Amino acid sequence: MSTRKLLLGDEALALGAINAGLSGAYAYPGTPSTEILEYVQSNAVAREREIHSHWSSNEKTALEEALGMSFCGKRSMVSMKHVGLNVAADPFVNSSMTGTNGGMLVISADDPSMHSSQNEQDSRFYADFAIMPILEPSTQQEAYDMASYGFELSERLKVPVMVRMVTRLAHSRSVVEVAEHAVPENRLRFPDNPRQWVLMPGNSRVRYRQLLEDRKRMEEEAEHSSFNSLALGNDRRIGILVSGIAANYINECFPDGSPFTVLKISQYPLPVNLVSRLADACDEIFVVEEGQPVIERAMRGLLDRGLKVRGKLDGVLPLTGELTPDNVAAGLARLVPDMAGKLLAEIPDPSRIVVSRPPALCQGCGHRDVYAALNAVLDASPTAKVFGDIGCYTLGWLAPFNAIDTCVDMGASITMAKGAADAGLRPAVAIIGDSTFTHSGMTGLLDAVNENTPMTVIISDNLTTGMTGGQDSQGTGKLEDICLGLGADAAHVRTIDSLPKNFEDMKALFAEEFAYEGLSVIVSRRECIQTARRHAKGKKQ
Ligand code: SF4
Repeated sequence: MSTRKLLLGDEALALGAINAGLSGAYAYPGTPSTEILEYVQSNAVAREREIHSHWSSNEKTALEEALGMSFCGKRSMVSMKHVGLNVAADPFVNSSMTGTNGGMLVISADDPSMHSSQNEQDSRFYADFAIMPILEPSTQQEAYDMASYGFELSERLKVPVMVRMVTRLAHSRSVVEVAEHAVPENRLRFPDNPRQWVLMPGNSRVRYRQLLEDRKRMEEEAEHSSFNSLALGNDRRIGILVSGIAANYINECFPDGSPFTVLKISQYPLPVNLVSRLADACDEIFVVEEGQPVIERAMRGLLDRGLKVRGKLDGVLPLTGELTPDNVAAGLARLVPDMAGKLLAEIPDPSRIVVSRPPALCQGCGHRDVYAALNAVLDASPTAKVFGDIGCYTLGWLAPFNAIDTCVDMGASITMAKGAADAGLRPAVAIIGDSTFTHSGMTGLLDAVNENTPMTVIISDNLTTGMTGGQDSQGTGKLEDICLGLGADAAHVRTIDSLPKNFEDMKALFAEEFAYEGLSVIVSRRECIQTARRHAKGKKQ
């Protein structure tokens, strides 16, 4: 029995996992993946079944927690944005070495065009070198169906399965056919081969040889996957190899069906026989894939018959930013110029229709008061530098504050300020949010504690993970204790409410601690006004 629901790609994937017997979901919030765990947390069946769902401290801890659940034979899921996979890279690569017991999905949501990210890295590279199958949905329906299939594949192959999402699919809605009832969860059962889970060199060497052997089974699965399909066309001039969401753009270019042979890939490793059949049916291959040219590069190695591979590397498609129906049509028109008239319809430039809205800190946000006080104090110290981090407060780089000098990755504010202080910079100031601090800032603070580095860390605590919509922050109510527990000097762990009425006190506190020739931590606290509004609304209801 099935029913129909209107779902975001993220929600479809989450519901697919719940209906497929999910026992545990772990995540750290990050656009465009946040809605996956939020959906699990709000789903009635998940609540009734008490499916464990939790915002972890960071992506590494989330992945390890999911792996622990898989070790016990249960189906688990971990979700993150693409740069979160860098944080989780250590357990991610080693999870294909330990293998899985219960099915395990690792969902990594890429952000081509960097709508809310610092780079455009493509998660498929990671799965390739970790030796892990990848599922890449092209529609919300596939996202739903792939959750159940991914668990089965993971249990069959005994490795985690990566599900690669992209922003456009994660954040768009479609009608999805879903099962009316969820299947039962797996029972607790332990791995058949416990040695495999202890990655000591003697065990790891054996396991790695096995994993390389198993790659052939992964290829075999991809060859016969119903998510990969070859549709033969009559026109030999080009063959189209398309993956994931880009399949929709090809469909839009040819609403009456493609005259060219199209191979759609939604499961990797690349199915070599299907690729070979595509190559037999055309004179050159056009690769259309969202993200970096992962398939295109692999194709150049796979084809030894001198067939031209066209795509991003030779400029037929743009190498940066998202694909769109328009730039895919333009690429096709370059390869088959006689179809240009049909492909390149007059489409208005969106930038002329949609007024641009640059991001800004909300009016009434506590980060504003912190930056105003910081600037007022540092005006007198022209050599000072402020090392920023990732969160709403990164917007402090923009006017009117122009208050930070760097922003690199989660937690880098503290460690970069330390390196700069080591180099002789005074004052060296780090500014970091509460959630980012518990994600990746605590270990950096320990480095600074151990050397009593002359620098100041401002933890701008808004009592939530503000940038991604107000998820729980792991350090709420404990930040000062964490800093003291790490060994920071109690005399220089200071707290202030970042309210306009405290502006002069904040300035005085900053000036005092910037002058101190040792490590100081200032916790400036004020609840995110968006979260505060939601809390107030919730109390009234
Ligand atoms: S969402 Fe909250 S933390 Fe972010 S800018 Fe707005 S008030 Fe500040």
